Amino acid sequence: MSAQDDFLKTIISHSKEYGFIFPSSEIYDGLSATYDYGQYGKELKNNIEEYWWKSMVRMHDNIVGIDSAIFMHPTVWKASGHVDAFNDPLIDNKDSKKRYRADVLIEEHIEKIRNKVHKEVEKAAKRFGDAFNMNQFRSTNPRVVEYDRQIEEIENRMRQALESGDLQALKQLILDLEIADPISGTRNWTDVRQFNLMFATELGSVSGEASVIYLRPETAQGTYINFLNVQRSGRMKIPFGICQIGKAFRNEIIARQFIFRMREFEQMEMQFFVRPGEEMEWYSYWKEARMKWHRNLGMGDGLYRYHDHIKLAHYANAACDIEFDFPMGFKELEGIHSRTDFDLKAHEKYSGRKQQYFDAELNQNYIPYVVETAIGLDRMFMSVLSASYADEKLSDGSERTVMRIPAQLAPVKIAVLPLVKKDGMPEKALEVYHKLKLEVNCQYDDKDAIGRRYRRQDAIGTPYCITIDQETLDKQTVTLRERDSMQQERIGIENLVSTVTEKTSITKLLTKLS
Ligand code: ATP
Repeated sequence: MSAQDDFLKTIISHSKEYGFIFPSSEIYDGLSATYDYGQYGKELKNNIEEYWWKSMVRMHDNIVGIDSAIFMHPTVWKASGHVDAFNDPLIDNKDSKKRYRADVLIEEHIEKIRNKVHKEVEKAAKRFGDAFNMNQFRSTNPRVVEYDRQIEEIENRMRQALESGDLQALKQLILDLEIADPISGTRNWTDVRQFNLMFATELGSVSGEASVIYLRPETAQGTYINFLNVQRSGRMKIPFGICQIGKAFRNEIIARQFIFRMREFEQMEMQFFVRPGEEMEWYSYWKEARMKWHRNLGMGDGLYRYHDHIKLAHYANAACDIEFDFPMGFKELEGIHSRTDFDLKAHEKYSGRKQQYFDAELNQNYIPYVVETAIGLDRMFMSVLSASYADEKLSDGSERTVMRIPAQLAPVKIAVLPLVKKDGMPEKALEVYHKLKLEVNCQYDDKDAIGRRYRRQDAIGTPYCITIDQETLDKQTVTLRERDSMQQERIGIENLVSTVTEKTSITKLLTKLS
């Protein structure tokens, strides 16, 4: 098993042990790729949502938020192209009986070649030291040049096959690249087939009256069909945006890798409506703004990179991902898409109702173009978990597991700990706790020795602990211990609320962003 697999397993078991994420329906042996958020998971999720919502809606005068229904008229999905084109190419291995996405198998093969390039560059950088010129090396080293040529060729073949829907060509590419099933190790593949990702169910209880209805695979369509409602009721002027946070459902061919790919997940999406012809400017704007939002968390700039799409979705004229260095390697965390006027135009056609905006400045009616930012809340959650987890050896020889979750996202902001369970300390600690809990999510804990209580808080990522001791009773001061440095300082009880909220509130993140 690779170190990556080990790390992923560690995160999964830590998440379960400490109440972040549980496998769903566990008493019935679970349901594949379905997870429940536990008591700390829910808090962390809320905080991520708050950071996203406030940075998008509250920080932009021209962006508002809505909450549309999961069920929509079935024609919505006909118009959007999902009924006909929301497919993934699937392929089975006849020996392992495992199912894969054909494009993902090829992408993973490309990633292996990229890793070889990366290793060559690293080796050369070490050999040449300060004199190393990366651009020169990449364009002249014969091995690297050959790897780059291979990548380009594979990407071209894959793009052509996907764009023309040539499933046989996709299979041929897998055979030519000699891609083997990671489980059986064989190349005994079935043909590639298209598989629609939408879950369908029936509406209505009387047979005959029932009609097919879909669980939405994205929140975006709920925004498009409300575009004019919001524009008119809010007297919005273009450019303006509409945000949504909500569940989406996709019958993924392979749903694995923990909460990275699930069949029921949550999205945070923003549709930004612009003048036709100005979409590329806004696409660049949002590409940059969204990267800034991620890096603003301070988990490490090197954890993120852009990836331009090889194959554009049926609605897009430009698209890229912000990828995150997950335990499985760099993978999509967020997508930024220039969706043109595809969706609104289609809804105008299928509904027979105009989906146009009157631009008073131009004295002109038009269907706006749309730039979308779409991030998975669960993937964002997983990025925070994996960047935060650390096993540490301390200077006194002991060990600790600490979740270095950005303080503003941490589920519990502060723990209130009486040093000992006597001499009036618990009473004083409870008094402080009851005051603090009005302001931030905090915990009171008086069980076990103080060191063990610190470890428990480290494991759930609590950024601050305060200890109530004899001096608290005498002088109204407490020790404030910081999670990462483990440094302690003494502060007055009267300053506690302001100190803690200053260090842990989302406001601080928003201030850095603006
Ligand atoms: P992928 O290529 O990984 O299937 P996608 O490009 O289809 O993702 P989008 O349609 O752009 O994804 O959806 C926006 C975001 O929703 C993604 O960036 C991702 O964070 C999240 N997401 C998509 N599918 C899933 C899923 N099955 N489970 C969890 N999150 C998902």
